[in-house]
Amino acid sequence: MQTRDYIIMEDLYGAHNYHPLDVVISRAKGIWMWDVEGKKYLDFLSAYSAVNQGHCHPRIVKTLQKQAKKLTLTSRAFRNDQWPLLAKELCDLTGFEQVLPMNSGAEAVETALKIARKWAYLKKGVPQDQAEIIACANNFHGRTITVISFSTEPLYRQDFGPFTPGFKIIPFGDASALEAAITPNTAAFLVEPIQAEAGILIPPDGFLKKAREICKQNNVLFIADEIQTGLGRVGRLFACEYEGIKPDMMVIGKSLGGGCYPISAVLSTRNIMEVIKPGQHGSTFGGNPLACAVAREALRVIQEENLVKNAEEKGAYFLERLKTIKSRWIKEVRGRGLLIGIELWPEAGGARRFCEELMKEGLLCKETHDHVIRFAPPLIISKRELDWAFKRIKRVFKRLEKS
Ligand SMILES: *Cc1c(COP(=O)(O)O)cnc(C)c1O
Repeated sequence: MQTRDYIIMEDLYGAHNYHPLDVVISRAKGIWMWDVEGKKYLDFLSAYSAVNQGHCHPRIVKTLQKQAKKLTLTSRAFRNDQWPLLAKELCDLTGFEQVLPMNSGAEAVETALKIARKWAYLKKGVPQDQAEIIACANNFHGRTITVISFSTEPLYRQDFGPFTPGFKIIPFGDASALEAAITPNTAAFLVEPIQAEAGILIPPDGFLKKAREICKQNNVLFIADEIQTGLGRVGRLFACEYEGIKPDMMVIGKSLGGGCYPISAVLSTRNIMEVIKPGQHGSTFGGNPLACAVAREALRVIQEENLVKNAEEKGAYFLERLKTIKSRWIKEVRGRGLLIGIELWPEAGGARRFCEELMKEGLLCKETHDHVIRFAPPLIISKRELDWAFKRIKRVFKRLEKS
């Protein structure tokens, strides 16, 4: 079968909930991917930052294989010998005290919201069913009905109502709006330290720090969604470190599974986590030994291969190079670490056509929203490989300059 055959089959039998580029990948290693015809591409998306360690990392794959032969699932009805180790290692790494494991990012966000609500009733004394949670405009926290209930993107919400009540929206980056939105019933403020899906939006300096203080003063939980920004992507282990803040709760996922296996987690303090008692929340696959063994190795790879430092250094280098591209289509180039966006003017005709041209050059990128091209290669990328990519990006901008 060839590319065309796979596409026809997928479009016929698969639901159309995505609009992928017309490339069919059958193999990948490190930063490289190969399509069914054997054509090689540089992965400049990293599965939305779920493959930060690079594709099929030998250490992670080996761990996966070893664990798969030994023990894959017990459910939490029984204990297993991997989950306690992952929980401890995550706490040692992050400075949090307890972890609740889930599978997908959206599930972990839902979990954090449930914990925050319960905390509000049990510890803050909010009247039953009155808890409020504040989120930001243009947020992306996943796709479940509760999570899209506080989305501001019509595409994510249209025809999916009725929605879960109890959420308020403030503009991203506006600390005084946060302060004004807080009431005695506010349980939590949920925020992405950098809004990746919204187009790599970095909040004004000091916003996170100010928001953190406001939350503390008002006994409101500060919840950071670091699912995409965390674990090295932005040149720090967590994006919150740019402002030196420590959230009350943090949600991680994506590259926690090293691109091999889905796993997500909510991290917090014992004092907050203890509001959840046995039976009140869970997931059959949450904390399964296969996921935990993979995550443990994925975390070790991030540390031992210095991926955070590499993201910082290579990201800064690449950002500067991208800024040298002269094109009338470019409105702004921005980013932190290896999470970089090129925002195009609306007259550029949309980011999609740029991604399609980049694909022809052997570079796989994805537009985020209509006008931003996101560059997010695996964090193992070298300077030479970035130069290879830069040459092609420059060429595409030159080619599309006239059209
Ligand atoms: C990807 C993402 C999610 C959702 O994760 P899923 O695993 O797709 O459910 C939530 N928040 C942020 C910031 C993300 O980037």
